[in-house]
Amino acid sequence: MSVDSEKLQTRIQHRAQDLTAILLRRYWSILLCVGALLVIDQAVLQPQLARLSVYAPQINVAGRQRMLSQRLVKLALVIQATHKPEESEKELRETLDQWRTAHVGLLDGNAALGLPQTTSPEIRQAFAQLDPHFDAMVSAAEAMLRGKDSPATVATLLRHESQYLAQMDRIVGMYEVEAQSQATNLRYLGLLATISVIGLMLALGHLVLRPATRTIHDQVDLLEDRVAARTAELTDANQALEREIKVREEAEQRSHELSGQLAHTSRVMSMGQLATGLAHEINQPLAAISNYAATCKLVLESESPDREKLVEPVQCIERAAQKAGEIVRGMRSFLRPGQTPLCEVKVSELIEEVLALCHHELARNEVKLTLCLPEHAEVCVVASKIQQVLLNLIQNAIQAMQSAPSEKRELQINATAADQNLLIEVVDRGPGFGPQVDETVFQPFFTTKPSGLGMGLAISRSIIQEHRGKLWVENRQIGAAVCFTLPIDQAQHDQVGTSTDRVCR
Ligand code: ADP
Repeated sequence: MSVDSEKLQTRIQHRAQDLTAILLRRYWSILLCVGALLVIDQAVLQPQLARLSVYAPQINVAGRQRMLSQRLVKLALVIQATHKPEESEKELRETLDQWRTAHVGLLDGNAALGLPQTTSPEIRQAFAQLDPHFDAMVSAAEAMLRGKDSPATVATLLRHESQYLAQMDRIVGMYEVEAQSQATNLRYLGLLATISVIGLMLALGHLVLRPATRTIHDQVDLLEDRVAARTAELTDANQALEREIKVREEAEQRSHELSGQLAHTSRVMSMGQLATGLAHEINQPLAAISNYAATCKLVLESESPDREKLVEPVQCIERAAQKAGEIVRGMRSFLRPGQTPLCEVKVSELIEEVLALCHHELARNEVKLTLCLPEHAEVCVVASKIQQVLLNLIQNAIQAMQSAPSEKRELQINATAADQNLLIEVVDRGPGFGPQVDETVFQPFFTTKPSGLGMGLAISRSIIQEHRGKLWVENRQIGAAVCFTLPIDQAQHDQVGTSTDRVCR
């Protein structure tokens, strides 16, 4: 990612953080306003609404007062005309009580009648103007109940009733006007609250939601850009990795080829060292062939050749030719370059073929050989490579014992099966690897010999590791041992058998 785009991203992130803080403040402010509106609703609007509902009983009771005042007058007229029948008197008393209770209730409130106290100064003043007529009518009605049902009393009632009715009409009208104005106020307040809520919602959308949505879009765009950039980076890294893998594979292939070439060179060098001995080895059967051929010739040149006398020399010639052939075959298979396939070989044959190659070398250096090999054991290996290892170890052992007295030069080759491994030890009676045996001897080009190359042990270890085995060196009481293992599967292991199968000579 470029420095510029990183800076841009940081700037966008900071802006987003600032904006988030602003949006949060706005959101809380709007929430506060909504809370204030709810408080106002509860504190002002709801009580006003509750009050509106009590106007109805006030208007009803005030209206009924007019009807009661008319009934009072009517009952007074009945009592006067019928000279006090008890029923009318009782009705007059009840009506008077109701009328008086309702009058007081309208002014001071009466829970039983559902009336609140009248607080409006105008209506209270109208009641004050009504009071003289009310008092006069109450006094006249009480006088009638006390038995003073004179025409003057009835006339007083009739005179004040008309005044009372007119004033009561006015009061009812005033109650209705007050209720209406209250309702109108409430409607306006409700409208105001609705407009405020809509305004707050619009503000919420405009001041909070819109910028928040924009910020989210910006962040999503930013994220998409980053994903695209990261994907491009990953693709580049992937391609670079693929290139690197290819280069590494090529290098591995090359190193494999080089190590093959090196191993082959090492084999050729070993063979070079053995060349004199091998020439002598081949020379022996050739000389024998020549001798036996001469014998055959003599027999054939005689006057009456005896075929019987030819059988033995011809058989000897055949054996000597086979021996020479075996030596040459061994050399050819040992020196063959390139990859030879894995195949199952008998351990004893594998070792004996190598010994055939260095037989003369051992004899020349007066080294006594002791072999301890399993008779039937087989391993699945590239035979020429394992033989290269063995040859290298045998040559090292012979060279290590060159300064020892000839009677003490002894080479021991042991092969044993342990668990699922075949263990091969090449033990000599030379000076050993010194007091501190370490990995130094396996380092390429490490040598203590004037004409040594220092590659023998390194190549041997890599060959054994190729075969999934291990190779190490150790000191023995007298001399050194170089040991290596080769894996054998269970079937082979069973074939390797126990130590009783082993042949030691
Ligand atoms: P080279 O034989 O060319 O020196 P190697 O890799 O085969 O290379 O051996 C490395 C060194 O390990 C030898 O120079 C020698 O010092 C030591 N070495 C190898 N085998 C033996 C042995 N059997 N006894 C003592 N020293 C040994």
